Amino acid sequence: MLEVSGLNVKYGQIHALRDVTLTVPAGRIVAVIGANGAGKSTLMMTLAGLLQPASGTIVYEGRPLSRKAYEVVGQGVCLVPERRRLYANLTVKENLLMGAFLRQDKAGIQADLEKMYQLFPIMQERLKQYAGTLSGGEQQMVAIARGLMSRPRLLLLDEPSLGLAPLMVANMFAVIRGIRAQGTTILLAEQNAFEALEMADEAFVLETGRVILSGSGKTLIDDPLVQKAYLGIT
Ligand code: ATP
Repeated sequence: MLEVSGLNVKYGQIHALRDVTLTVPAGRIVAVIGANGAGKSTLMMTLAGLLQPASGTIVYEGRPLSRKAYEVVGQGVCLVPERRRLYANLTVKENLLMGAFLRQDKAGIQADLEKMYQLFPIMQERLKQYAGTLSGGEQQMVAIARGLMSRPRLLLLDEPSLGLAPLMVANMFAVIRGIRAQGTTILLAEQNAFEALEMADEAFVLETGRVILSGSGKTLIDDPLVQKAYLGIT
């Protein structure tokens, strides 16, 4: 579904992604794990059209992925950015509707809102609440639901478990499995390596901007280097 090849991204002198090549097959969960500063967010923002690569190709469903952020959404790819970036002074419902800003189909939007309430039951009780007043876990759920309102076929999740209490982290991963079960392909960037690898069909390890390892989630969990560097197993 997504084929990234030889991707290089720079911030001035800083070479943040180096020859990154990875594929995301349709219907799968693919994880990118790596430490702080490894380049995970840079990869996600580049895919979303928010950063421009110095070189490399990004092919989505057989054609180049647009380099304009709003066109990327139109092509069916949606980023849920790190640290949620909700509109704090809008209500939960208004935030969800912002996710559907490119859509005209009122009935479809209403039907998708109902779906979001099923996926995230707590949301219905919070609809009129300002997003900024929610807990971190609830805000993350709203951010994901807002992303889903654009009906993506590929969802890019940047560190969805960041800053969440352990119970919420477990909830979050259950929700991600549920989204995949409904047919959405997921590329997930995570520092929470164990949970991400456990869930992922395929995974890539990013270190200082390079893919240093890849394989099935299970293979990487058993890899001694991954165990030592990312799972705290010595
Ligand atoms: P984190 O989990 O902390 O966000 P990350 O794996 O997502 O880490 P990136 O945020 O993509 O990593 O950062 C990759 C590299 O690019 C780091 O060396 C970082 O310092 C650098 N970098 C990120 N954003 C910028 C920026 N706006 N300007 C300059 N350098 C940046």
